[in-house]
Amino acid sequence: MNHMPLKTAAYAAHSATTPLEPWSLERRDPGVEEVLIEILFCGVCHSDLHFVRNEWHNAVYPMVPGHEIVGKVTQVGSSVSKYKVGDTVGVGCFVDSCRSCAACTSGEEQYCESGATFTYNAPDKHGTAMTYGGYSTQIVVDQNYVVRVPENLPLYAAAPLLCAGITTYSPLRHFGVGEGTKVAVVGLGGLGHMAVKFAKAMGAHVTVLSQSEKKRQDAMALGADDYLATSDPATFENNVKRFDFILDTVSAEHDLNAYLTLVRLDGRMVLVGVPDPTPLSAMPLIFARRSLSGSLIGGIRETQEMLDFCGEKGIVCEVEMISMSQINEAYERMLKSDVRYRFVIDMASLK
Ligand code: NAP
Ligand code: ZN
Ligand code: ZN
Repeated sequence: MNHMPLKTAAYAAHSATTPLEPWSLERRDPGVEEVLIEILFCGVCHSDLHFVRNEWHNAVYPMVPGHEIVGKVTQVGSSVSKYKVGDTVGVGCFVDSCRSCAACTSGEEQYCESGATFTYNAPDKHGTAMTYGGYSTQIVVDQNYVVRVPENLPLYAAAPLLCAGITTYSPLRHFGVGEGTKVAVVGLGGLGHMAVKFAKAMGAHVTVLSQSEKKRQDAMALGADDYLATSDPATFENNVKRFDFILDTVSAEHDLNAYLTLVRLDGRMVLVGVPDPTPLSAMPLIFARRSLSGSLIGGIRETQEMLDFCGEKGIVCEVEMISMSQINEAYERMLKSDVRYRFVIDMASLK
C-alpha cells in the first residue's frame, strides 16, 4: 500500500531558552480506531510555558506544545463509529491511557495508574518519538480520547475549554460547589476566568482574589460578586474564614498559608495552579480543620459533560486571537499576567 506521509506544519521549542520556531513533523496514518483532525484553533495554556522552559524538569526537545485543540475531522479509521468526516471535535491534555486500571475504567483517565499519555512531551505509544501537540496543523487521535464540541459555540472561543475549562469545572463539580457556596477564585488568568464563569453558572457567590486592582471591572463583567486585591494587607485581615471553597489557579510562588486562613471551619482550598514549591504550615489546616486538595484536568466523560454544559448555557472563553508567529511574545505577556484571558492561535496562520 502506498504510504502518504502526513506532513504537518508546526512550531517547536528546541531548548528551554530559545524562542519557538517553525518546524515540521509527520503524523502517522490514522489506525482503525483513530481520526485525523485538521486543527483550526489551539489555546495557549500556562502549562505550555512551564513545559517549554523546562520548569517541570522533564522537557524533551524538539517539543510541540498545545493541548487546547479544536478542529474538524478529515479522515476516520475503518472501525471509527463515534465521529465522521466534517465533525467539530476537541482534544485536551491527554490522547491515551491504559484503559484498564481503576481510574481509567471509572472515567478518570487523567489519573491513570500507568500514567496517561499526555498530548505532548510524552513517549508516544505508536513509535519511538514523543507526542507532539496542537501548535500544528493536524493531529491523529484515538476516537475514545476525542470529544465533540457543541455546534452553537464559536470554535475559537471554545478551544481553551479543553484545558482551562475542564480543569476548573472538574473540582467545582467534584467538591459539590452549588447554590450559595461562597467561592473565592485566586488568580484571574486563563483558568481563573473560567472558574468565575462556571462557579456563577452553578449558583455560587463568587469573589475574585487578584494581585492588583487592575482586573476589578473585568471580574465583575465576568459575573463575580466581589473582588479583593491581594496586594492590600487588609484583604487578609478582614476576610478570615469567609469562604467555603477556594480555587487557587496561580502559576507562580505565593503564600498558601495566608490564603488558607480565608477558608472557613471545615472548608477547602483546591490547588490547580502549579507554582514553584511553596512552604506549607500545618497551622492554618489544624486550626479550622481545613482541607487542602489538588485536582488535575478531568476525564473524557466529564470533559464532554463540561462542553455540553457550555453549549446549553452559552459559556465560552474570553480570548485574544494570535497568529502562530506571535507565540513567543504571547508567552512574555502571559508571564506578566497581561492576557485577557486566553491567547488562542489561529492555525490558518501556519498554513
Ligand atoms: P495564566 O493565564 O497565566 O493565569 C495565572 C494567574 O495567576 C495570573 O493571571 C495572575 O492572576 C496570577 N498570578 C501570576 N503570578 C502571580 C503571583 N506571583 N502571585 C499571585 N498571583 C499570580 O495561567 P493559566 O493558564 O490559567 O494556568 C495557571 C496555572 O495552572 C499554571 O501553573 C498551569 O500550569 C496550571 N494548570 C494546571 C492544570 C491542572 O490540571 N491542575 C491545568 C492547566 C493549567 P492575577 O493577575 O489576577 O493576579
Ligand atoms: Zn493546560
Ligand atoms: Zn489506566
